[in-house]
Amino acid sequence: MKYAFKIASVWGIPIELHLTFILLMAGVAVLSYPDFYLFTLILFLFVFVLVHEMAHTFVARHYHIRVRKIVLYPIGGVSEIEEIPQTPSIEWRLAIAGPLMSFAIGAVLLLANVVIQVAAPRTPIGASLATAGNLMLDLAVLNLLLGGFNLIPAFPMDGGRVFRAFLAERMKFTDATKYASYIGRLFGIGMVVFGIVFTTYFLLIIVGLFVYVGATEEAEQTIVSTNLAGVRVSDVTCAEIGAVSPETTLAEAMETMFKSRYHDTIVEKDGVYQGVVVWEELMKVKPEQQSQLRVGQMPLRKVSVFSDESVLEAQKIMSRERVSVVPVVEKKNPDKVTCVLTTEGVAASLKRAKNLR
Ligand SMILES: [Zn+2]
Repeated sequence: MKYAFKIASVWGIPIELHLTFILLMAGVAVLSYPDFYLFTLILFLFVFVLVHEMAHTFVARHYHIRVRKIVLYPIGGVSEIEEIPQTPSIEWRLAIAGPLMSFAIGAVLLLANVVIQVAAPRTPIGASLATAGNLMLDLAVLNLLLGGFNLIPAFPMDGGRVFRAFLAERMKFTDATKYASYIGRLFGIGMVVFGIVFTTYFLLIIVGLFVYVGATEEAEQTIVSTNLAGVRVSDVTCAEIGAVSPETTLAEAMETMFKSRYHDTIVEKDGVYQGVVVWEELMKVKPEQQSQLRVGQMPLRKVSVFSDESVLEAQKIMSRERVSVVPVVEKKNPDKVTCVLTTEGVAASLKRAKNLR
């Protein structure tokens, strides 16, 4: 089941609402009946949360870092970044953009509020805006709080990323991540305890859990990928899974995939590599057409790695192109497949990389 729903896209990046967010808004709407003040306030707040996330995305785009999507949760927004930069000077800029945007919005709203307060009794427009003044002042305060809260050095929150970048300029990236993660987890525990003691801030319990789990997972991932970067494709078991030709029917190709246990298979024409055909694409074809259509008529993913490349690179290709196999090709002759790197092979080296600390 899908838990997030796309509502729009900006710069080709989908913006999604998480189911829990929609439930929250529905709950708030009921609670704030009949004046809907709280509902309006939270609705506007989340528009500004989105602008905060878009500030991160804007900087990411500047450095050619891909953002998969922006998801809004009841506790805030998350920009899913494809690859967290390991360059401190980029990471802190990327992280600080959001809070700076929130501060800027807060300041502008505060200023607008002052203008309205001064003008309110004097002009008819001012008088009609006076009722909007309250909302504006509340939103100004909330934006300033949003910016400030995100700057808490609780990795993986924005402030924690700035902190890691600060450490990473002075020590090894993995060590910087380790320390930032320790502190992030401490903050996570602190938030949970605070939320339990002061029940008004119960949302902090959820935020704290997110921070704790996020800090643990990201530290783990960083260590694994740093270790993986040192492992060559040639160090990983390479499999022979056979190939299909462009003339093979889809039904036959599916049988081959089924037998080899990999859901994707490589396509070769007279020993010349053509690409990878994926199970997912074949499943889109109606069953009655599967015995008529040929593999050559399907979209192929032209992916490959050299044996001296890092396993990390192969893993990135696999997750980006959503393939379970990547052929290893010769450098001198990139059309010739030597063998195939599989998700199992990568998983095995991941396991080894985890133990290498
Ligand atoms: Zn942020």
